[in-house]
Amino acid sequence: MNIFFDKIASLLNLSSPANFVAVLIGCVLTTCMMSDIITVIGFNARLPEIIENYSFEIRLQTFITTFLLSSFFFTIMLLLLRHIDQLRKALSEEIRHDNLTGILARAAFLDTVRSNNSAGTSNAFLLIDADFFKRINDTHGHAVGDKALIAITNALQKGTRASDFIGRIGGEEFGVQLRNIEKREALEIAERLRKNVKEANQDFGYPDIDLSVSIGAVLYEDQIKLPDLMKMADELLYKAKENGRNRVEHIMLNDSTLKAA
Ligand code: GH3
Ligand code: MG
Ligand code: MG
Repeated sequence: MNIFFDKIASLLNLSSPANFVAVLIGCVLTTCMMSDIITVIGFNARLPEIIENYSFEIRLQTFITTFLLSSFFFTIMLLLLRHIDQLRKALSEEIRHDNLTGILARAAFLDTVRSNNSAGTSNAFLLIDADFFKRINDTHGHAVGDKALIAITNALQKGTRASDFIGRIGGEEFGVQLRNIEKREALEIAERLRKNVKEANQDFGYPDIDLSVSIGAVLYEDQIKLPDLMKMADELLYKAKENGRNRVEHIMLNDSTLKAA
């Protein structure tokens, strides 16, 4: 039913002058016909006589009026539905994406990770946190901090494959899910992302800013519950911070590790 409405509504593009004039003429005609009916009702004392003499014309007129009226209201209804649908789509896109970086926002990203955790696949989940980010804000200001977050996003995008998902989990923390990937390749990508960010200060015009990230990487097969995945990645991230930052700490899980856990 929605497709039917969409199809008809897409034909009714009021921003085109021709369509606008057509709808306008429709309105004028409808108004003229309505005024005819009102006239007849106004002379209802003579109605039997009129019906007797002009019944065919009156029926035809009533039919056309009804047809035009219903077309007019149907058109308005479709235009309204189309408008509501466009608003709904725009709003859900807005909510799905992070305002600053344009990548998936926390909820949409975690939903994606959850739905990709299907049995029999080999995936990797990377939790990535910018190092000493508060210092960047404190030294250069919040606006430069924002630019640094965009530069980090670009560096992550540059280092991942088209099939991977990147999200902003919150603040200066990002998540990456690498799908259907061998463990060794996943580790190479994690290391590449770390290196890309380290070199990103050149791209965003502040070569004196020391930009780096620490990464907790979980390489896993089969299904893992999202909270467990997040917990493991968070512990590894903490370890990476403890061990000096600007580094990747990882764990490789297989079926037997999971069953033992
Ligand atoms: P660590 O290496 O331990 O992670 O240190 P850190 O300074 O990165 O961590 P901390 O949690 O102390 O500070 C995070 C900072 O990130 C503080 C906060 O102001 C900043 N931040 C979070 N979101 C944004 C943002 O959207 N824009 C900017 N400019 N800064 C942000
Ligand atoms: Mg940090
Ligand atoms: Mg943090």
